[in-house]
Amino acid sequence: MKNIRNVRRSAAVLALFVFSIVAVSCGGDGFRRSPSVDAMAAAEDVAHWSYEGPTGPDFWGSLDPSFVTCADGSAQTPINIVSPTPTDLPDIQFAYQSGQAEIENNGHTIQANALEGSSITVNGKTYELLQAHFHAPSEHTVNGKSYPAEVHFVHRADDGTLAVIGVLLEVGGADNHAWSPYVNGLPTKEGATTKQQFDWLAMLPTNHQTIRYNGSLTTPPCSEGVSWLLMSTPVSISEWQLKDFQEAYNGNNRPIEPLNGRTVQIDSTTK
Ligand SMILES: [Zn+2]
Repeated sequence: MKNIRNVRRSAAVLALFVFSIVAVSCGGDGFRRSPSVDAMAAAEDVAHWSYEGPTGPDFWGSLDPSFVTCADGSAQTPINIVSPTPTDLPDIQFAYQSGQAEIENNGHTIQANALEGSSITVNGKTYELLQAHFHAPSEHTVNGKSYPAEVHFVHRADDGTLAVIGVLLEVGGADNHAWSPYVNGLPTKEGATTKQQFDWLAMLPTNHQTIRYNGSLTTPPCSEGVSWLLMSTPVSISEWQLKDFQEAYNGNNRPIEPLNGRTVQIDSTTK
């Protein structure tokens, strides 16, 4: 039994490793495909997971040995943000290019893969933009307040470490045109893809102040070592745009995880 478990664990680790290599080496069409989501695809081969019932978040850690961090991790995401410490942090330098995005319905969210060539630099380290995807309602809460949706812009450095920019979405006013390509391109069928022209920078709030802490992927395998950069200013979209997101996925948010003494900072000097 022990041997079988070990073989299964090795197979899972190998699958994740192989998928990472594929993620790095593929992209003949120029689109970045995220290691986290490729890991998710591999994770799906290992064990089915979901947001409710016996394969929901409370059970992720026991669905497969490779998901154990979901249960045993000590620096997990999302968290409830309360009184982050104002700190003079280096600004994020954005080098985003407008361009085509390939939007895919992966069965857990709808993900927009970026073309190569967009990046951020933070603390002297450059991370390339891979993809954005959404959760509804938000995963992070602020003083216990949940938002209708949250979008994660996933970036990866050359050494494989991830930095994720979180953008909270709220409802107000007319359609937000910067978000129309994403909303209009949402493929409703699992596995389907569309292509749309994205202005990635315009999708962010104009105020780039962020709340920063060290966390994890919010989906299996819940890997830690992720630098989280949550925009402190939400972005407004129309109620019709929100409805389109919600009709695609609603309830794909992981519940709040314990802070466990981690430091949470807010940039006091954003320019
Ligand atoms: Zn996410």
